[in-house]
Amino acid sequence: MSVLIFWDNDVPPGLQQPVVRMISDILDMPVFAKDNPVMLRGYDPSRNQNDASKILGDMQDFYTRKMGCGDPILIVTGKDLYMRGRDFLFGLARPGVNVSIVSAARLQNSWYGRTNRDEDLMDRIVKEGTHELCHCMGLSHCENPECIMFYPQTLDELDRKKKMLCPKCSENLNIFKFSD
Ligand SMILES: [Zn+2]
Ligand SMILES: [Zn+2]
Repeated sequence: MSVLIFWDNDVPPGLQQPVVRMISDILDMPVFAKDNPVMLRGYDPSRNQNDASKILGDMQDFYTRKMGCGDPILIVTGKDLYMRGRDFLFGLARPGVNVSIVSAARLQNSWYGRTNRDEDLMDRIVKEGTHELCHCMGLSHCENPECIMFYPQTLDELDRKKKMLCPKCSENLNIFKFSD
């Protein structure tokens, strides 16, 4: 099993390789990245945001149904995301069909009026990207505020997480990886 990342053209391309390496280290599995070939739909001009459910629906149609791709997929985009009933999302996963997305929009310091730093953005994409991929691999949320599977409501909560899974979540990931 390996993971495929589609990197959108509105996220700094220089971050791609370090992010891939870090996610691969955390998951302890091969991770490959490509530039995103798909036009992301679901833009809502009244909110200036994209509907994450719609994007994942398109991904499911294309990769899971048409191409029969069985490995977990993550899109990394710079577009701000929402879904019905939620003002915004850092990311979203559709576990049954192995597709997920993370948005760099609110992971940038500049969203909060601070100066951007590549390391901050990279760290956060790694944490949230790995979080969504782990949902695809059967993991649910964790109570441990330092674990990647903790569900952060704010950027500070996200920053408090470490770039690792707690022992319990690591064990669950291993059970998933070696289950078939
Ligand atoms: Zn989650
Ligand atoms: Zn955990």
